[in-house]
Amino acid sequence: MYAYEANQDLLKEKVILITGAGDGIGKTLALSYAKHGATVILTGRTVAKLERVYDEIEQKGFPQPAIIPLNLEGASETDYLKISEVIENEFGQLDGLVLNAAILGSLTSVEQYEAEVWQQVMQVNVNSSFLLTKALLPTLQKAKHASVIFTTSSVGRKGRAFWGAYAVSKFACEGMAQVLAHELEEKDHTGIRVNTINPGATRTNMRANAYPAENPMSHPAPGDIMPLYLYLMGNDSIGTTGQSLDAQG
Ligand code: NAP
Repeated sequence: MYAYEANQDLLKEKVILITGAGDGIGKTLALSYAKHGATVILTGRTVAKLERVYDEIEQKGFPQPAIIPLNLEGASETDYLKISEVIENEFGQLDGLVLNAAILGSLTSVEQYEAEVWQQVMQVNVNSSFLLTKALLPTLQKAKHASVIFTTSSVGRKGRAFWGAYAVSKFACEGMAQVLAHELEEKDHTGIRVNTINPGATRTNMRANAYPAENPMSHPAPGDIMPLYLYLMGNDSIGTTGQSLDAQG
């Protein structure tokens, strides 16, 4: 596991948006960031799940979160601009963005892959990250030390048979992060840092869908992989940008 011990107040006074915050890694991330003092903006497509995360954060006495329903498959550029407007008006700041939501699509050969599913995976996993990041950049740029985290995968660093659009989409996220990191790099480290995290095999619905026969308990829970997510979001990682890192070390 990535070794990092986060200070309790690491994210105090930071406002952080997380996509896919209703379940899996995104849900744990929201709770963990809130526990370390952040105001988290929960986005996702299933509002009931976001509400449960919201309630849990409130019950624990962490900073009051916010919910912005967002289906990455159908959202238009105008929808993303509206989100940016809401964040400007409600919070006046944005210090962090975690592009976490993704779908698996089909696990099949390129030859057999349905074009419609391919497009859907690219829309949710790649195009939405471009549109959301683009819309939020002006607000992120106003923060002193903003951090953007793309979530990738081992199959987005080395291609693997039958992982189709999912693997290709994760390569694209690695590429987008590198392009953005390069564009935003500043010598005095006051710019936005942009990095990718490969969570590694983690006990979530996505993992269970990809490997239905395996024992879920053989992999770490989302809570176990938080150290790298905390490190990259907090100010201890100022100066780290353009890196592709592994949450499980
Ligand atoms: P998960 O349990 O399936 O959770 C994915 C989240 O994304 C869910 O909250 C889901 O919402 C949301 N989402 C899916 N489609 C959406 C859409 N169209 N609009 C908005 N939200 C949408 O997956 P996970 O395992 O936590 O994965 C999180 C990230 O880690 C992903 O980027 C994944 O590729 C990556 N990853 C995971 C593993 C692993 O072993 N788990 C390994 C490598 C990489 P609903 O709850 O409404 O479905």
